[in-house]
Amino acid sequence: MTTVDMTTLSTGEADTAPLLEVRDLHVEFNVRDDIAKAVNGVSYSVNAGETLAVLGESGSGKSVTAQAIMGILDSPPGRITRGEVLFHGEDILKLPENERRKLRGAKMAMIFQDALSSLNPVLSVGFQLGEMFRAHQGFSRKAAKAKAIELMERVRIPAAKERVNDYPHQFSGGMRQRIMIAMALALEPDLIIADEPTTALDVTVQAQVMDLLAELQREYNMGLILITHDLGVVADVADKIAVMYAGRIVETAPIHELYKRPAHPYTRGLLDSIPRLDQKGQELYAIKGLPPNLLKIPSGCAFNPRCPKAQDICRTEVPVLASVTEQDGSELVGRGSACHFWKETLNG
Ligand code: ADP
Ligand code: MG
Repeated sequence: MTTVDMTTLSTGEADTAPLLEVRDLHVEFNVRDDIAKAVNGVSYSVNAGETLAVLGESGSGKSVTAQAIMGILDSPPGRITRGEVLFHGEDILKLPENERRKLRGAKMAMIFQDALSSLNPVLSVGFQLGEMFRAHQGFSRKAAKAKAIELMERVRIPAAKERVNDYPHQFSGGMRQRIMIAMALALEPDLIIADEPTTALDVTVQAQVMDLLAELQREYNMGLILITHDLGVVADVADKIAVMYAGRIVETAPIHELYKRPAHPYTRGLLDSIPRLDQKGQELYAIKGLPPNLLKIPSGCAFNPRCPKAQDICRTEVPVLASVTEQDGSELVGRGSACHFWKETLNG
């Protein structure tokens, strides 16, 4: 009789592969006679039970990366020109569309900024929630409705039983966003991508919806990618962060380390532009200039025209995402910066 080798059980390939690993992803769009390079070599990973925040100004390629992962890229004009998206260790970019469709909803789900345009206005929320169970799991109408109520209660919609037949427009913005979360959670996917899930909401409601999302993510042990242009929103819920600029990741770090010691001048600029309660009355810093035109990304470091620290090398050489270490060379786990002068920025 053979004995089971316990070491392979805990260190086998399937166990150690991250839930999601994006490798060197490139996405382009045909724009008239030109090509917009929206995503230029993005790599990131998320484990089960982990939250990755993806931060960057509008147009930096956050959503396009997410659409490529989900298989909902607007194509044409968009196309993936290079890279891999490994989900449970398998490159899903190679799967046929019908297989991708099966993954969506069931294994990976997405939450969008605008629930009103994502939900169907002429169907009740109960019907739309129930549809997940009818379409994917063959539930009866009655059983699906019971599941819909259960989900509405799960995301703390008051009087769920009475409101199950209401339409999307009858709910407040915050409640609609909770319904989107319920839709995403319905089939208990392994991965949720939330693209600016609270951007359209009032500040007080933002925090409640974000806390709910974080709570459910922990409870279901899901991987969560939280896309935002607002560093303030993700501080309390993310484990780690990837900062994007012009379709590249320019900094990665465990979230609290990024706040304490950014290693890229762009991240420093973003941090300095967050309003702080203890500095009332002071003028808020804003990064000068505008995000780059993706048809004409500046040579060298794409951030160089806006960077207070830029030198000659920054205009000619594209900085790679290098490991960030302490001055004595000791490793800073999970930290990387695509700045020629990360040492000065980290320690400055
Ligand atoms: P964000 O970081 O704000 O989410 P996006 O990922 O949505 O930015 O977009 C990045 C860039 O990709 C845009 O600035 C635009 O140039 C290009 N892009 C995105 N979607 C399309 C599209 N459907 N058609 C053409 N270009 C697009
Ligand atoms: Mg976006």
